[in-house]
Amino acid sequence: MDWEQISKAAYLGSIVLFILALGGLSHPETARRGNLYGILGMTVALIATLAFITGNYAVLLVGLVAGGTLGLVLARRVQMTQMPELVAILHSLVGLAAVLVGFATFLDVEGHQYEGAEKTIHDVEIYLGILIGAVTFSGSVIAFLKLSARIGGKPLTLPARHWLNLGLLIVTIVLGVIFVRQSAAGDGLNPLLIMAVIALLFGIHMVMAIGGADMPVVVSMLNSYSGWAAAATGFMLKNDLLIVVGALVGSSGAILSYIMCRAMNRKFLAVIAGGFGSGGGEASKGGGGEQGEAVSISAEETAELMGEAKEVMIIPGYGMAVAQAQHTVNEMTKALRGKGVNVRFGIHPVAGRMPGHMNVLLAEAKVPYDIVFEMDEINEDFPDIDVSVVIGANDIVNPSALDEPDSPIAGMPVLECWKGRTTIVLKRSMATGYAGVENPLFFKENTRMLFGDARESLEGVLKALD
Ligand code: NDP
Repeated sequence: MDWEQISKAAYLGSIVLFILALGGLSHPETARRGNLYGILGMTVALIATLAFITGNYAVLLVGLVAGGTLGLVLARRVQMTQMPELVAILHSLVGLAAVLVGFATFLDVEGHQYEGAEKTIHDVEIYLGILIGAVTFSGSVIAFLKLSARIGGKPLTLPARHWLNLGLLIVTIVLGVIFVRQSAAGDGLNPLLIMAVIALLFGIHMVMAIGGADMPVVVSMLNSYSGWAAAATGFMLKNDLLIVVGALVGSSGAILSYIMCRAMNRKFLAVIAGGFGSGGGEASKGGGGEQGEAVSISAEETAELMGEAKEVMIIPGYGMAVAQAQHTVNEMTKALRGKGVNVRFGIHPVAGRMPGHMNVLLAEAKVPYDIVFEMDEINEDFPDIDVSVVIGANDIVNPSALDEPDSPIAGMPVLECWKGRTTIVLKRSMATGYAGVENPLFFKENTRMLFGDARESLEGVLKALD
């Protein structure tokens, strides 16, 4: 039996399955099916790779068992609120793998005997693989630290940082030329090592320079980079499946970055060039100085207002994930709809801490898809809304994004709930959100604050609705 042909056919099958998986994941209704295709694709890919490999099975088995166990334990333990950090740290592993495979391929001179142009191409593959991998690795580690609040969200703005980046880019290109020349003469480890260090520093600098509010773009960009790192690994290992799958992840990540940029009103090209997002570097105080008094409201009064309303808009944010309030939100929605209230959900593209965060939570709680709307679909409806309920959201409903040109979130479209009759904000304190910007919404005449943990507050509202 020709194992090579069979495994190639299996690779093709799993590529198709991965494409179907990506297609499925584009909508909540088909996401579950998409996930199944992905699992199936990965299983086929693993079996095909195992069957094709003729080397040391013991090492492979140890790696599979160790990696599989670690993945299983992590997936079971991780809280929904920690998902963004987990995704970031997983991206870093793809980057690290590309770096290690790059060095291993370079040092394993017996594994390949290329000459002339072929050798140059192979060397360029190694160089690019290590470069992209190292940037992805260190950038993702910093993103992980920022998302898990182990380091602050404030942007680090070194003086002349754009020149510094340009300088590093030029040095990297020069080192690349030196590496290819030296490698042809059987050497080249030094330029490769120096470039790896520069790339690691660049990754750190790139993500450190980004302000809190721009993190969604970074997360999706690193997602894209991890795909290109995998594709580069595929080139080094001459593995078609890795090349295609890496390119799929790389390009879908790039599309997601573009969508995120549009959602936040940032320029895509400026993002790619790395010159974005510090928003002047200072976290604005928003509105500046005296803002007036915030008026609080009780759970019972909230229930009364909502029960009497015709149109209710629920705006979930990161705090809903922290409080794990999605199930109570669903119960409350059912109770209100039972009373004939038209309840809708307005989802901001960067709500929470990862793309699609709110949709995942609402789907988990079985909120019907047909009452969940994207920001663009409902933002003009707020003048007709009787009660907007903001559940643990802050930056995505901050009017200073529209009113204050100096704000770090200036220009970002937000859900304009203050245009409705009454807005009720559920949060624990007057603290700022992820971007560290104060929110004038809390002080508006038609805003009421329902202080406390969102789940506990909603349980109170639900009780009063009965
Ligand atoms: P924010 O981080 O702006 O605000 C969340 C609010 O939830 C906080 O002000 C907090 O106030 C409140 N909160 C926290 N825990 C609870 C709780 N248990 N009960 C009630 N309230 C709670 O979140 P948004 O969703 O409004 O905005 C997302 C932000 O995250 C944006 O700045 C976005 O750029 C950024 N981001 C988004 C990513 C993405 O991909 N979506 C990735 C990385 C960053 P208090 O402490 O007073 O309770």
